[in-house]
Amino acid sequence: MKILVLNAGSSSLKYALYETSPEAAASDSDQLLCEGLVERVTTMPDALKTAFADLTPALGGEAVTGVGHRVVHGGTFPGSMIIDASVESAIDQLSALAPLHNPRALAAYRAAREHVPQATHVAVFDTAFHQTIPRHAYAYAIPPEYQAEKKLRRYGFHGISHRSVALRFAKLHNKPPEDFRLVICHLGNGCSVCAVDRGKSVDTSMGFTPLEGLVMGARSGDMDASALLYLISHEGKDPAVLLQMLNNASGLQAVSGVSNDMRDILKAANAGNDSARFAVDMFCYRARKFIGAYIAAMNGADALIFTAGIGENSAPVRAGICADLDQLGIAVDPELNNTASHEARRIGNSAIAVWVIPTEEQLMIARDTLACIDKLAG
Ligand code: ADP
Repeated sequence: MKILVLNAGSSSLKYALYETSPEAAASDSDQLLCEGLVERVTTMPDALKTAFADLTPALGGEAVTGVGHRVVHGGTFPGSMIIDASVESAIDQLSALAPLHNPRALAAYRAAREHVPQATHVAVFDTAFHQTIPRHAYAYAIPPEYQAEKKLRRYGFHGISHRSVALRFAKLHNKPPEDFRLVICHLGNGCSVCAVDRGKSVDTSMGFTPLEGLVMGARSGDMDASALLYLISHEGKDPAVLLQMLNNASGLQAVSGVSNDMRDILKAANAGNDSARFAVDMFCYRARKFIGAYIAAMNGADALIFTAGIGENSAPVRAGICADLDQLGIAVDPELNNTASHEARRIGNSAIAVWVIPTEEQLMIARDTLACIDKLAG
């Protein structure tokens, strides 16, 4: 059957069409028929029109059976959901927590429903994989009414990616995910580390929003909340301006003064730019700190895995993060690390093995959509 995957970003729409079935998914033989990106999206109906014009030949006259929508914030939904009126309304209500993302996903859903009303539409959440995180790890140590009424807690993001990597690692070893304790570093524009204990997320570095944790392209990551309150009360800063600063003008971009793109920063660092070098060092140190924390959280680990744009492609950053971790049982093999490849591969044979595994978020969304349709059919 034909499954369409839609990933609505703040100004773009990514799409991918798969031919798949329960058997194909089980044997990894799903076929990617077509994929594309609509940039500078003004309205989702227009973006969907462009996408469907591209998809029509690939459909070859067949109908789309299911559409999988990537939804960043799914609150406490523990898994992917067929979108009905109540799920649609829940995603809408969660827009307050993810104002840049959820409204776009809803707009894409509504526009897609016009194009393929007969299809089953499924929401695949970035938060769902982290719903197994125990309370001592997801709660903030603040008065309970803030958690109960204001829903202030850590949710975690990048769950679709972390789950796809954990499943792939187990499959590569011909073993169930329950056999492994993994520390996964998703290092893209957004960055997060996840502790996956026997198939379940037990901690992750992003929190109430994707701002917490690692240094990212343009996000600060961890910071003492009182520093912001100080700026508000003593400097009269506007909270909206600070939110924008922390999410869009901080991180690698601010520290390097060069760019939010790791390729540009590495180039500048190699050319002797001290701020760029410092940004890379800070990025690596923060990641290393979380890796140590998550090994402690699981009382050990079988593998450390790198994924996403920086994790999959940057040997110097992987080497920088893993430097001086030999006492923890982590070491990358320089030759394996420096060999460019787009395949899943081991780059370190230390006690905690080091791997690079390309993230497969789109495929994961297609498979979840398929699984929901399959369940519905009984
Ligand atoms: P997103 O989070 O938007 O999906 P990606 O996973 O594509 O982003 O990651 C984007 C990041 O990956 C950028 O910082 C980019 O510089 C970095 N990147 C991609 N290729 C390389 C490379 N060869 N070396 C270093 N960084 C890279």
